[in-house]
Amino acid sequence: MNKNDIYLIHGMNYKEMTKVLLTAANLEAEIGDKKRSIALKPNLAVSKSPDSGATTHGELLAGTIEYLQEHDFFNISIMEGSWVGDRTSAAFRAAGYIPISERYNVPLIDLQKDSSQVCDAKGMDIRVCSQALNADYIINMPVLKGHCQTAITCALKNNKGLIPNSEKRRFHTMGLHRPIAHLNTVVRNDFILVDNICGDLDFEEGGNPVSMNRILGCKDPVLCDAFVCDCLGYTVDDVRYIRLAEELGVGMADTSKANLIFLNEDRCLAHPPLTRRVRALSDYTAPKDACSACYGSLIHALNRLYEEGKLKKGLSPVCIGQGYRNQNGNIGVGTCTACFEHSLSGCPPKAVEILRFLDEEWV
Ligand code: SF4
Repeated sequence: MNKNDIYLIHGMNYKEMTKVLLTAANLEAEIGDKKRSIALKPNLAVSKSPDSGATTHGELLAGTIEYLQEHDFFNISIMEGSWVGDRTSAAFRAAGYIPISERYNVPLIDLQKDSSQVCDAKGMDIRVCSQALNADYIINMPVLKGHCQTAITCALKNNKGLIPNSEKRRFHTMGLHRPIAHLNTVVRNDFILVDNICGDLDFEEGGNPVSMNRILGCKDPVLCDAFVCDCLGYTVDDVRYIRLAEELGVGMADTSKANLIFLNEDRCLAHPPLTRRVRALSDYTAPKDACSACYGSLIHALNRLYEEGKLKKGLSPVCIGQGYRNQNGNIGVGTCTACFEHSLSGCPPKAVEILRFLDEEWV
């Protein structure tokens, strides 16, 4: 696997999708020695169920563990340190990880109870939990979602769960961006498996999940987070820690050089929006058999326009979905609306492209 590869798989059988993706990426060869200790690092900042849009789905852990055990890797653990206001033990329970731990005989490690060591993170001293430093291989398993302070959160910020609570508090006093970038010079990002199933519109703690039904796999945390910007309708320069991490040599932020490897087509129909906020954005759309990643990208783009104060009454709804193939219309998103007067190609197009298109042709 190359450092600029990003694997993408769509669907609703998340455990099987995980195994297919890890097989395609040949994780077995990536890890190498069967005796290596492998830590799975989910996103359990809060004790909430994954369908809230906040935390990593247990199916990704189950699929990863099955893949690893089927390939004779047995020195596996799941480690996390939730945010300061919550307990990791409660988060493990809320996300449904206890039965997974028992079923596969994989321990849950609460990093809030771990010791820590000071590391020189390229000019910034940062305390990192000892067990995270001792792991031979870490699979970072963030949720792709919005964030109220940093706009997005994914691979780079998920590693904040590898530091003690005292250090998390200090990160906030330093404004998050610079310490997050420096932290990623000392923690491992061996493989990144991104939960892009239903991450939140704009909050770390969930509450407004946007269904995308997608899992991504990559190796470069900077490229990963830069790609997340594209997926949520931001530019890399909107998220300062991405550029800072790039400057510190953690990875590359140029998504035009990413090698996107689609393992299947997005053909999972979008779910109806669950919360009032997402429903309010969906009022500007006219979906007809829309695929979930396509529709989710449109919702994120509409949220950017909402934040910019550009959504107003009277706009003709944006059409999206396979039900518009070979039909005429005014404005549509995705290749299915190719016959429309104004149409954005892409299958699915990214939120950043939809945002640009709607800004020019619609609002
Ligand atoms: S363009 Fe059409 S087929 Fe492609 S992802 Fe969007 S809705 Fe699905």
